[in-house]
Amino acid sequence: MTPDFIREALRQVRYPGFSRDIISFGLVKDIRCEPGQVTVQIEIATRDAKVPQQIFQDCHTILDSLPDIGVVKIEIDVKDAPAAAGGLGGSVGKSSIPGVKRVIAVASGKGGVGKSTVAANLAVSLAATGAKVGLCDCDLYGPSVAQMFGVNERPMANEQDEIIPLEAHGLKLMSMGFLLEDRSPVIVRGPMATRYTQQFLRQVAWDDLDYLVLDLPPGTGDIQLTIVQTVTVDGCLIVTTPQEVALIDARKAVSMFAKVNVPILGLVENMAWFECDAGKKYYLFGKEGGVREAEAMNVPLLGQIPINMETRERGDSGAPIALVAPEQNSVSAAFHEIAAKIRTKLPVS
Ligand code: ADP
Repeated sequence: MTPDFIREALRQVRYPGFSRDIISFGLVKDIRCEPGQVTVQIEIATRDAKVPQQIFQDCHTILDSLPDIGVVKIEIDVKDAPAAAGGLGGSVGKSSIPGVKRVIAVASGKGGVGKSTVAANLAVSLAATGAKVGLCDCDLYGPSVAQMFGVNERPMANEQDEIIPLEAHGLKLMSMGFLLEDRSPVIVRGPMATRYTQQFLRQVAWDDLDYLVLDLPPGTGDIQLTIVQTVTVDGCLIVTTPQEVALIDARKAVSMFAKVNVPILGLVENMAWFECDAGKKYYLFGKEGGVREAEAMNVPLLGQIPINMETRERGDSGAPIALVAPEQNSVSAAFHEIAAKIRTKLPVS
């Protein structure tokens, strides 16, 4: 029996609720093999008592079944995860981004609900409050920041080999799309996508920012998990449309972020209604699904954004709707209100 052998066996133990295992998360700190006894030391930062219990049981199930193993001792050291620091604790190598005061993730359970639209307009609205703001598009498979801000140059590197973000409308912008060239993102899958994302997040010279908005890829898989464990995320917004299929996935997103201790800033209900020229509202995707869901999950509802043509047109043409003065446009006003709430929840000194 060798520590390497035990380590390999423990790759079958998943972190509860995720597809990644406890070895790849770096939770196993020490393995000692003595005659007739194996001792495994695990360190976890969590506030959920069920997590260590489950890992303890799963480790025993795997190791006890190995022939000639003798006595198995699983020692789990549980550390309280700090609420604002997110993730499974320092054990997975999370770090803050140099020069960035607050990192906000914009997430959604499914694609096409307007996550990138909300991320872009939130970034613009935060900048309008006088803050220094960056927007980072982390969606390897469908980057959209280039289109939404009308930028498409290739960024340069500085002397430290860090990528210098592009700029538009007073924001610093970075997107995986800027770096991909013609290489099909489809070929970057699994562990390679994870490594690429981590490297990308650590190698941008943001310099000095009050807020960095991360536009996460849609869904609740390993890549989202990797991002919130690579950098310290101060809070996340979850975007949903009011219909049931979107709400089910929004629920999953809320539960995933809660599990890794990323504070949920609230839900944004996008495409909440369509208002015709006569002023009548049509609830195309159902009425107030996001409002009810926020209540049911006990998370704040940050705002409701109607569906309208100008929002889509401006998104496609590189000038997000929130650039219009909020007094002149109700959709812009809704985004500015969300930004004001975020500033209050996550103040910068
Ligand atoms: P996601 O990031 O969730 O995949 P996007 O932000 O890319 O979604 O939005 C998908 C499409 O819907 C885009 O063409 C976008 O312009 C449009 N869209 C998003 N929100 C609205 C809205 N409130 N009104 C009109 N069009 C919208």
